[in-house]
This record gives sequence, C-alpha cells and structure tokens, in this order.
Amino acid sequence: AKGPKKSGGPDIGTPRRTKEIIAKHGFSFKKSLGQNFLIDGNVLSKIVAAAELDEHKGALEIGPGIGSLTQKLAETAGKVTAVEIDQRLIPILADVLADRPEVTVVHGDVLKLDLKELFETQFADCNGVSVVANLPYYVTTPILMKLLEERLPLQHIVVMIQKEVAERMAAKPGGKEYGSLSVAVQYYCVPQLVCTVPHTVFIPQPNVDSAVIKLTVRDTPAVDVPDEEYFFRVVQASFAQRRKTLANNLTAFVGKERREEMTAMLNRIGIDPGRRGETLSLDEFAELSRNLYEAGWSR
Ligand code: SAM
Repeated sequence: AKGPKKSGGPDIGTPRRTKEIIAKHGFSFKKSLGQNFLIDGNVLSKIVAAAELDEHKGALEIGPGIGSLTQKLAETAGKVTAVEIDQRLIPILADVLADRPEVTVVHGDVLKLDLKELFETQFADCNGVSVVANLPYYVTTPILMKLLEERLPLQHIVVMIQKEVAERMAAKPGGKEYGSLSVAVQYYCVPQLVCTVPHTVFIPQPNVDSAVIKLTVRDTPAVDVPDEEYFFRVVQASFAQRRKTLANNLTAFVGKERREEMTAMLNRIGIDPGRRGETLSLDEFAELSRNLYEAGWSR
C-alpha cells in the first residue's frame, strides 16, 4: 500500500458530492450518533495537515461517516483504519473507498473495541500512528480519555470537537475554562488549538461552534505522581465546588477532623489554602497529591 498516492479528486467533501452520496444510498442522519458531516475541503485539508502524516505513518479515524476525511487521509498516510458504529454507513464506505486498498473499515463502537489489539493488527508496519477525526460530540470526552488512559502508542490526536470543550482542554490555570479536563488532557498531552470553524461547514449544522484541536502525546506524563488514580481524585476534589477555596474543597476529601493538619500541610508546601483549585498548575497538583498520598488521607 506504499505506492504513489492517488488523489480522490477535487470534489471530496464538497456539499454537492456529499448530497450525491446521501441521495444515492437513501441515507438519513441520526442525531443520536452525532452525525454532522464535513462539507468543506479546506477544513478537511487543515485537519490532515495538522496530523503530520506521511506514507510510513498510520491514521486511526473514529466515525468516518461517508468517508470524506477518510479519503483525504488515504492520500497522505500509508495506512488508514476507520471505526464506524452505524451499520448503515458500512456499504456506503465500501462503495466510496472501493479504490483505496490502504483503508480498512471496522464496524464497531470505539468505546467498546479492544484498541490495543486493533493497533497490533492494523498498524504493526507503521512508523507512528495518529488519531484523526471529526468526533461525534456526544462522546468526545469518553473517547479521548479512553485513547489517553489506555496509553496507546500515539503521536498526535487531531480532532474536530465542540469549541468550548477544545478551549477547556487547552486552558491555562487561572481562568474559568481551566478544570479537571484541562489537567487530565495536559497530563498526557501538549494541546494546541488549530482553528475554529463555523456551523456552515457541516450538514446538518450543529447547534454549537466547533474547533480543531491537536494533542501531541507526551512520551511520559507532564508530572510525576505516586498513584495516577489518586492524583485525578485529588484534582476532581479540588474542583468539586468551583467557588470554594482549596481548603474547603479538600476538607470534603480528607475529612473534617483533618482540616487543620491539611491546611498546615498546604502552607508547608507553599500553596495558600485560600486559593481556588482553578489557580493550581499541574506541578502544584502533583505536589499536593504526593503530600496527601504520603499522609494517607482520603475518604
Ligand atoms: N468523519 C465524518 C465527517 O467528518 O464528515 C463524520 C463525522 S460525524 C461528526 C461522527 C461519526 O461518528 C458518525 O459517522 C457517527 O455514526 C460515528 N460514531 C458515533 N458514535 C460512534 C462510536 N461510539 N464509535 C464509532 N463511531 C461513532
């Protein structure tokens, strides 16, 4: 599959081509599956360019729809595997991708698939794999957390998601967008907003604004913690009630009887107990979780 790359023609992902395919197969959109198909070739090209693919690299696409992004990916990557949940799209994809031997379509729910096994069977010959997708918005966070928590050997994750979620993922401490999602994503990745896109580049048009975000997966997490699960529990607890101080939120985590000891510990490690969780950097959360862990405190 590493021969010269064929171009699928200038009309991939145009409104006309998309409408033709939909009409030919009598397809009707399912809102419950987050089906908003991209109909702008420039946006498709921007997504593919951000993924830094070449003929030795693999791309995992989640939710290929009618295969517009899939075809663009196949022009650049050596191997493309696309996981689609909607059985009705499988014959359409077989038709659209008939002359694309480098593409494999897998029918399934990405949240239920064994992705480690999928990587072994699909990408064994690839020199690096990235996830590239226009994600179904109703499951953006569970999909991304599954990709990251399973420690799949990924280079980049380039995805179209709801703009507000992209901003939360890339947020720095101190603002209202910064929360446990920012910490979780930045623990595993370096985020970069690629572009925002208007509703008009999809059919049907979603009710929310969208953005493309690029997550470059770190070789090792951003901070060193004794126990990841515990670290994320401390982060969740610190953001539990955003208007409360860190000391108040953490009291619920360690128990009222330990409040004084806990605030003394915060002072000792140089974190003012009167601060709010949203002002803490990843390093500070790591330091906090190390100290709470060593003290053996949690409810
Ligand atoms: N990639 C296409 C495009 O850009 O035009 C379609 C993107 S559309 C936003 C999301 C796609 O994800 C749909 O085709 C939908 O059926 C599929 N999908 C939804 N939930 C899924 C899941 N759990 N696993 C795999 N695919 C899913």
